[in-house]
Amino acid sequence: MPVLDVPPPAFMQDPDIQMFADSATRFFERSAPTERVLGWREAGQVERSFWRETGAAGFLGVTVPEAYGGPGADFRHELVLLDVVARQNLEGFALGLHNVIVTPYIVLHGSEEQKRRWLPKLVSGERVCAIAMSEPGAGSDLQAIRTTARRDGDGYRINGSKTFISNGQIADFIVVVAKTDPAQGSRGVSLLIVETDEAQGFRRGKKLDKIGLDAQDTSELFFDDVWVPAENLLGMQEGKGFSQLMAELPRERLLIAIGAVITMEKALETTIEYVKNRKAFGQRLMDFQNTQFKLAEAKAKATVAKVFINDCIARVLNGSHRAHLSRLAHRAHFRRLDRDHEGHHRALALTARGQGGQLA
Ligand SMILES: Cc1cc2nc3c(=O)[nH]c(=O)nc-3n(C[C@H](O)[C@H](O)[C@H](O)COP(=O)(O)OP(=O)(O)OC[C@H]3O[C@@H](n4cnc5c(N)ncnc54)[C@H](O)[C@@H]3O)c2cc1C
Repeated sequence: MPVLDVPPPAFMQDPDIQMFADSATRFFERSAPTERVLGWREAGQVERSFWRETGAAGFLGVTVPEAYGGPGADFRHELVLLDVVARQNLEGFALGLHNVIVTPYIVLHGSEEQKRRWLPKLVSGERVCAIAMSEPGAGSDLQAIRTTARRDGDGYRINGSKTFISNGQIADFIVVVAKTDPAQGSRGVSLLIVETDEAQGFRRGKKLDKIGLDAQDTSELFFDDVWVPAENLLGMQEGKGFSQLMAELPRERLLIAIGAVITMEKALETTIEYVKNRKAFGQRLMDFQNTQFKLAEAKAKATVAKVFINDCIARVLNGSHRAHLSRLAHRAHFRRLDRDHEGHHRALALTARGQGGQLA
């Protein structure tokens, strides 16, 4: 029985969603057994071949329209995948980044030619995505980026460095945020696609150590005079990058919040299972009143967060998401909500498990 008493929303109860969930569960259980996943954690990155396998099974670019080689599914299918991937402990496999964050930039802002050129490769896993916004001196304040893309012949020459880039070691399709006209502020920002196997001067830096997401290759990237053809300017119009980012970042924030709620639920499940089995001072940890208080508090917070996130998702599905999510995204309390709750639940899981909680 699920640990939270939140019934699945009506929009997730279609038989075809259930069939999709069953088939995704079978695929990830079969293709990513614990031993393989532990290997990825040790290596600090997911095997490149697993992306191909996932593409061949039909789980990459699931919302890409059929005209561009995708199955033309919708956001509910993405939710199923996020849930299945989390339940299989594949937190380092950045499927959400590829499917929900980066691919939509091409679907929604690419020219017809760009969609035909790139989308089939993103669906098959021939290309693995990353998005390179953050820099050593620019995170939340994206306007402060210093990477430039100067016009040079029939293309652009990119110079700069990026950091914290998910999929940094394996991505070969990178959406780079750069200034094509530094004098124009936010209106001088553009998004350029760098296909790394064709990019001289592109270099991957070190994989960054983190306190979690061991299999995720969050990395530095360097662009030293990297030349890309003008056809790699997303949407074929300079200066549109900031508005393209502002249009798509709310979905990224929603994805982070969905992931946080899934993590809270999993942390609660794991903790309850543990305290029911672990005995101390002659009784189960679960039988101590303090444990029950703490778990009740955590369950209440997780329930509120799940109901809230389901409402956000319903709005994405009925098309009223732009204004709603933009408002949310600009409210610091929403970011705090997902971080605090997720952090609180992780801490609870660690505390309840004592020193054993520090072990994977
Ligand atoms: C695991 C991981 C994966 C990532 N993947 C990617 C990726 O794929 N691509 C990418 O481009 N980036 C990625 N990032 C970077 C991420 O987007 C940045 O960390 C984020 O934008 C914040 O930037 P920063 O770390 O430089 O913090 P800063 O922007 O320096 O913020 C520092 C602190 O100041 C606070 N702060 C900032 N602005 C304000 C304000 N206006 N008012 C009040 N407080 C403020 C912040 O909340 C924070 O607490 C990743 C980061 C991590 C940890």
